[in-house]
Amino acid sequence: MRFSPTKPIVIIVLTLVALGIGVFAFVGSRKTAPEIPLVVEPVKRNQKHAVIGHSVEGRDIESYTYGNGATHLAFIGGVHGGYEWNSVLLAYRFIDFLEENPDALPDNLTVTVIPSANPDGVYRVVGKSGRFAVTDVATDQQTLASGRFNANEVDLNRNFDCKWKPESTWKTKVVSAGSAPFSEPETKALRDFVSEYHPDAVIFWHSQANAVYASECREGILPKTLAIMNAYSEASGYSAVKSFDSYEITGDAEGWLASIGVPAITVELKTHDTIEWERNLAGITALFGYYERER
Ligand SMILES: [Zn+2]
Repeated sequence: MRFSPTKPIVIIVLTLVALGIGVFAFVGSRKTAPEIPLVVEPVKRNQKHAVIGHSVEGRDIESYTYGNGATHLAFIGGVHGGYEWNSVLLAYRFIDFLEENPDALPDNLTVTVIPSANPDGVYRVVGKSGRFAVTDVATDQQTLASGRFNANEVDLNRNFDCKWKPESTWKTKVVSAGSAPFSEPETKALRDFVSEYHPDAVIFWHSQANAVYASECREGILPKTLAIMNAYSEASGYSAVKSFDSYEITGDAEGWLASIGVPAITVELKTHDTIEWERNLAGITALFGYYERER
């Protein structure tokens, strides 16, 4: 084929004419069509990362908040530190889920996840602050058990202000509950978070009793606590247990929340080393559905 110098010029002219018609049509249509934004804003996830306090050894206690609905749910992992490290990994998995699926959260909800409420206890077992992998976890039983406590050797789930006593129990052992209710910086951080944000319900992840527990202090179980315990239990398959009676527990976080009128449930995973994501996602989704219907 012979090169013709006129061909490119014809193509350029035709392109310019076509563009001109397009711009004219667009500008013309803008006069009558409803306003359409020229730039689409990225979806706002309203994610807010905060440090709500520090551990005895100065590690951050972090929170991740999603959504901006009027009903606020808090999910807390790792109160028992490295001994229950799977509850921390489950909480991080939930954070990733909320990042990846912003539409999963109903409009009327705000969710805060506090993945690691006892970071010193986790550090003792995994040797890391913040996120960790299963391969970081110690296998020595004594190390794992010691990771239950904070750096003052206090069982944090005995340090809250409900029937508090200086010594409490864990199975057959006597454990320190601190020198007073909220004597530990980690429990203070949770108390201050609750007083600042007034969550409508708090869900704690522990392990390994394979059950969902209601909560109470001196006034009995709140009706909403029973409702969310049953919702989570039915969806996840963890059995619903109204009250823990294997041994006496004093100073637990859930009892303190009940005493100030905040529904709280404890979800105990089936093992110490699985996150049982599908079961927990089913439970979380059931709670979302419950609070969406409640609006
Ligand atoms: Zn626990």
